[in-house]
Amino acid sequence: MKIILASTNQGKIKELKALLPDFEILTSKEILGDFEVEEDGDSFKANAIKKAKTIYDMVKLQESDCLVIADDSGLSVPALDNEPNIYSARYAGVGASDQENNEKLITKLKSKNLEITPAFYTACIAIAYKENIYTTHGWLYGDVIDKSIGDGGFGYDPLFIPKGYSETLGTLDPTIKKEISHRTKALSLAMKIVKTF
Ligand code: IMP
Repeated sequence: MKIILASTNQGKIKELKALLPDFEILTSKEILGDFEVEEDGDSFKANAIKKAKTIYDMVKLQESDCLVIADDSGLSVPALDNEPNIYSARYAGVGASDQENNEKLITKLKSKNLEITPAFYTACIAIAYKENIYTTHGWLYGDVIDKSIGDGGFGYDPLFIPKGYSETLGTLDPTIKKEISHRTKALSLAMKIVKTF
């Protein structure tokens, strides 16, 4: 059975592929071309379900034995009323780069004199298979800082120090993120579901 990843985010695709070494993986882009599902839900779960279901309904016409995995994820900073939350990818505006989003977060933190403050990543994985949808969640807790350190990972990683570590995900070895990340946790629960199919 093929697994189709419903994502266009290269950072996430790279991470998800590394987490699924035993499966034949395709991306929705490889099958459908440049097709984006609008993320207009009010939660990570609502967006992940919409992406998985929309892509599954399109790819099932071409791939008879497949399942679709969609992930919606983001960073929440409680001291900033949980911003950027579900708007993580477009915090500095639709189509914003990781650097622009990070700069906006740094500006917000500085405006509140927050050099370092608790934050957490959330990932929701939705699996679409046959007529059913299954969801799992994972979280990674830590702190964000008001400066960017390192260029590893993607998104907000250069600002994020996981709990129990003293460096950002921008400088920590990627194998550490692979072990502790919100996506790894959500995906390992998702794989327990996939193995029952
Ligand atoms: P999505 O593609 O709508 O799920 O948006 C996810 C956004 O959340 C990304 O563009 C990043 O800004 C942020 N994000 C989610 N997971 C991570 C992560 O593991 N590291 C850094 N940023 C992340």
